[in-house]
Amino acid sequence: MLFNNYARRPVHLVKGEGTVVEDADGKNYLDFTSGIAVVSLGHAHPAIVNAIQVQSEKLWHVSNLFESPEQEKLAASLMKDTHFSHAFFCNSGAEANEAAIKLARKHTGKSTIITFGQSFHGRTFGAMAATGQEKIKQGFGPMLETFKTVPFNDPAALEAVMDDDVAAIMLEVIQGEGGIHAVTPEFAAVISDNCNSKGILCIVDEVQTGIGRTGTRYAYEQNGLKPDIMTLAKGLGGGFPIGAMLGTGELFDTFGPGTHGTTFGGNPLAVAVAQTVVDFVFEEGFLKEVNEKSAALIRKLKESLPPDRFDIRGQGLLIGIDCKRDVASFIRQAEEAGLLVVQAGTDVIRLLPPLTVTEEEIDQAVDVLTSILLVPTTI
Ligand code: PLP
Repeated sequence: MLFNNYARRPVHLVKGEGTVVEDADGKNYLDFTSGIAVVSLGHAHPAIVNAIQVQSEKLWHVSNLFESPEQEKLAASLMKDTHFSHAFFCNSGAEANEAAIKLARKHTGKSTIITFGQSFHGRTFGAMAATGQEKIKQGFGPMLETFKTVPFNDPAALEAVMDDDVAAIMLEVIQGEGGIHAVTPEFAAVISDNCNSKGILCIVDEVQTGIGRTGTRYAYEQNGLKPDIMTLAKGLGGGFPIGAMLGTGELFDTFGPGTHGTTFGGNPLAVAVAQTVVDFVFEEGFLKEVNEKSAALIRKLKESLPPDRFDIRGQGLLIGIDCKRDVASFIRQAEEAGLLVVQAGTDVIRLLPPLTVTEEEIDQAVDVLTSILLVPTTI
């Protein structure tokens, strides 16, 4: 038996190709979850299959005690034309955030990290404490005091907790799990002002929004934030576990040998896959297509769903349909109709198709969603 920590749906998926996955009974579904923003190039992308095959015949694992030109190359690809200059590879989003928290505290010598209501940063002890959702923390006893969580997009609340012990402000540029809420340009400016004037570090958690998900390489590029630290995972590996933390040059000396580490982080298989993903996604034509598909998806949803009942939010292919009521039953109905989607908060259906989704698949998904959502309800 497995622990009961997931509300698993009674569907056993056994294979996939592109956006389509098949269950053990041979039923096909359009996967508009991408394994929760992970399978960025779709299932079984030939280039990824090839990358794993080629690397698996050479070297599966090498300790971080040895040099890694492959990690260096991936780091350079991730940081090209950005203000970041150093990278650390790990295995997941929570781990990347743990690294960011440690780096910020060690660099500044200060303790407090400010995070925001409805945020999600992961399930490890530090990342859980950083997360701005009570339900995630329930039953786990006293949380780390290092985090002060204030309402999102609320400048007065942020100013109220500023003191001399603040090491960093940590945010998702668009809150994914919390219901697809983007940082407003005004609030981004307040964060930047505080960071610049008080020597506070800005950490963006782009575990869900990074690597093309929002139509640019990173979501922060769209709103004027200039983070000191950024965390990545999910879409970076296209389905293979990998996380990353990028930092600016001034942070370099803080993480000297022996300060932080992981056995598996930057594993050759993971790096080979991530390099393939990044080479595809960061190509200009690819991101242009993501934006075209995003515009088509948003337009079709807005045309089909009346604005008084549904609020369509998001950027790129991270789209939320706020149904203003609990969406659990809609998610089940979509699944029965052959469309996999995921909940965000209680009221939001989250659409996260692979970045390689086709316009035809977008049309099919919108048809399923409208047929379910527009049925009059007595609840
Ligand atoms: N940060 C954000 C914004 C996330 O969405 C998630 C996962 O949903 C995490 C961190 C945690 O990532 P992981 O599950 O890989 O530890």
